[in-house]
Amino acid sequence: MLIVQKYGGTSVGSIERIKAVAQRVKRAADRGDQVVVVVSAMSGDTNNLIDMALKISKTPTTREMDMLLSSGERVTCALTAIALSELGANAIALTGRQAGIVTDGVHTKARIEEVPSEPILKHLREGKIAVIAGFQGITRDGDVTTLGRGGSDLTAVAIAGAIKADLCEIYTDVDGVYTTDPRIEDKAKKLDRISYDEMLELASLGAKVLQNRSVELAKKLRVKLVTRSSFNDREGTLITSEEECMEKPIVSGVALDKNQARASLIRVEDRPGVAAEIFGALASAAINVDMIVQTIGRDGKTNLDFTIPSAELEQTKRALKDFGGALDKQEFDDQVCKVSIVGVGMKSHSGVAARLFSSLAKENINILMISTSEIKVSVVIERKYGELAVRILHAAYDLDK
Ligand code: ASP
Ligand code: MG
Repeated sequence: MLIVQKYGGTSVGSIERIKAVAQRVKRAADRGDQVVVVVSAMSGDTNNLIDMALKISKTPTTREMDMLLSSGERVTCALTAIALSELGANAIALTGRQAGIVTDGVHTKARIEEVPSEPILKHLREGKIAVIAGFQGITRDGDVTTLGRGGSDLTAVAIAGAIKADLCEIYTDVDGVYTTDPRIEDKAKKLDRISYDEMLELASLGAKVLQNRSVELAKKLRVKLVTRSSFNDREGTLITSEEECMEKPIVSGVALDKNQARASLIRVEDRPGVAAEIFGALASAAINVDMIVQTIGRDGKTNLDFTIPSAELEQTKRALKDFGGALDKQEFDDQVCKVSIVGVGMKSHSGVAARLFSSLAKENINILMISTSEIKVSVVIERKYGELAVRILHAAYDLDK
């Protein structure tokens, strides 16, 4: 098998951990697998580098930030290759540039443009283990770039796609993807399989195991992903195409996003262009609007409710202050949360949403907003009921069984 193994910051967080990673990589190589390793910086290192720069300047130049930040992954990549050599393996450390990763020039959040397979395959053919610094690339002009926070996942997936790896294993400090946050519901179960789309929904809903961009890229390039822990030998969660998710459970997981706020615009003028003006103003202020609900207009007026991240509430109020004439009243509520159920099986089942509503009703939890998609039902409720709602729904869809 040709596999890419990516190790996150906690997995390479100390010299002892790096030695343990080398052991694991060596085991795969001894089994006969061809292995490419991608590493993150030691946990905390990227933040420390940022802090140092901010002690010198409030607005450090982004080109130089990339030069600085890319160094964290260089350290772990070199140390991992040294640890592998010490175990008698034939390993070579490569920077993003040496691995051939070409990006655009948007410093600190560059997009990968090209990953040629040859610079890596060449080393594999020579029987070497290629250890690559994640999170970084180079522009066509030769400047070092980084891919945005958590970007090593993206490096791993892009490489796996380029060299047509059989599998891309993402090693972290959790065992995989769970039916819900185990800190909220201790009956949460690790999932064996989940589809790309379900993973994307769960990740954007706050179940952060993998960087979202990397899941999108894996879906596009059809890279099979496994997320698992580098701290034990348990099997992780396979993230793959929907066709390969045999059982297709109706609901795969329940997610909670506590950082939500709600804005209600009451009695808004009901004429063409109003929504465009309001959401245009929010877009210009780079506010991430999520759920939008508009009621059917009556007497030339309509109500418009939407959610935003609570951290963007003040900005939202500022962006909307010029709309006084087009509406009667604005109300804001930052004590809400969003609870969602996600599952590809919903597509072919009816009554899924109804069960959610009745389960919450039984506990007297009031639903403030509802939105649905093909594989997701989300409700906004009072924040203080968020964790209770997660437990109720986890049981209601038999996720603890
Ligand atoms: N070291 C980078 C970060 O902390 C990239 C990564 O860990 O994936 O964001
Ligand atoms: Mg990381």
